[in-house]
Amino acid sequence: MKLFPRLFLGHLLVILVALAALFGLAELTAPGFYRHHVEQMVQLLGPEGRALRPDLERGMRRTLTGALVAAVPFAVLIAAVTASVTSRRIVRSVQLLSDGSQALAAGQYGRRLPDAGRDELGVLARNFNVLARSLERVEQDRVALLGNVGHELRTPLAALRGYTEGLADGVMTAPQVAPAILREVRAIERLASDLSLVSRVEAGQVALHASTFSAHDLLLAAADRFEDAYRERGVALHRPAHATPLPVHADFDRALQVLSNLLANALRHTPSGGRVTLNADATAGQVTFAVQDTGSGIPPEHLTRIFERFYRVDAARTRSDGSGVGLTIARSLVLQMGGQLSVTSSPAGSTFTFTLPRPSPAHP
Ligand code: ADP
Repeated sequence: MKLFPRLFLGHLLVILVALAALFGLAELTAPGFYRHHVEQMVQLLGPEGRALRPDLERGMRRTLTGALVAAVPFAVLIAAVTASVTSRRIVRSVQLLSDGSQALAAGQYGRRLPDAGRDELGVLARNFNVLARSLERVEQDRVALLGNVGHELRTPLAALRGYTEGLADGVMTAPQVAPAILREVRAIERLASDLSLVSRVEAGQVALHASTFSAHDLLLAAADRFEDAYRERGVALHRPAHATPLPVHADFDRALQVLSNLLANALRHTPSGGRVTLNADATAGQVTFAVQDTGSGIPPEHLTRIFERFYRVDAARTRSDGSGVGLTIARSLVLQMGGQLSVTSSPAGSTFTFTLPRPSPAHP
């Protein structure tokens, strides 16, 4: 049976049961109440009244029954109309939810339900809208990701095609184009491995091996890695002169990967003669790492977006510089290790800051 007749008949059944109970209770209790009034009348009328007592009692009972019987059709009618209105309201909400979920299943993620009040059906409609919104976002992400991957591949592939045609036409020689071909192939390889890493990191599928190590050792390892590259570019790399032991509980290799990414970015965006400063500080329950550069800075409107996949401030920048997912990977790794990655920036430079947990009694 459909929902509306089921609800309506349910309401009607409740109404009928309530009426039957009302009748039964009135017949049972009314004589007791009336007896008192009858007694008063009998007293007033004197000896004649005593003879009238059975008539008086009968008359009152008849009046009560008559009034109840006359009122029942109207009461049932009013109750039935009310039952129909409330049933229809419930059915309409359920119908909207049902249509909405069908639309979602068919891929129409833009579908939303109207506000349905404060009751459970209203809450259900609001939860539906939250679900639809997050599905819509996932779908937009998926479409954007496909577009971005295509875009990222197109540039190195176009270059490879140009070199191959140059070789085939005899315009270029193999020794001339070999380094350029290698550079483009490496860009594609890096894109492939970054893509696979970003999907694994975002799905939480990267195994972390947490241990307790010194924050200073981490800074040292990262600085050693980049020493030559910084010197070649004429950018000074500063790290804390005094090694204070700051114990951190995290995955050393992944933390080094995050720091390396920030150092590579800082180097890329800091002109020769500039400075990049590495630091680590203890804060409540955490150690805060900072990579501060005197580079180009990031305009405020881009700051929140640079952690998105493939987001670049300068969209026209050469692709071989980076695949645009470094910060996405870094932020996911830091989050998985129990920390936060954030950035502040001004035209005088940027500071990337991330936290990692200190050892706790559970993880000494
Ligand atoms: P990419 O591979 O392009 O470097 P990232 O995810 O590492 O990708 O960085 C995203 C974007 O954030 C970069 O393209 C760049 O525009 C901006 N960015 C990152 N670090 C810095 C920095 N230290 N100074 C200025 N801009 C930066």
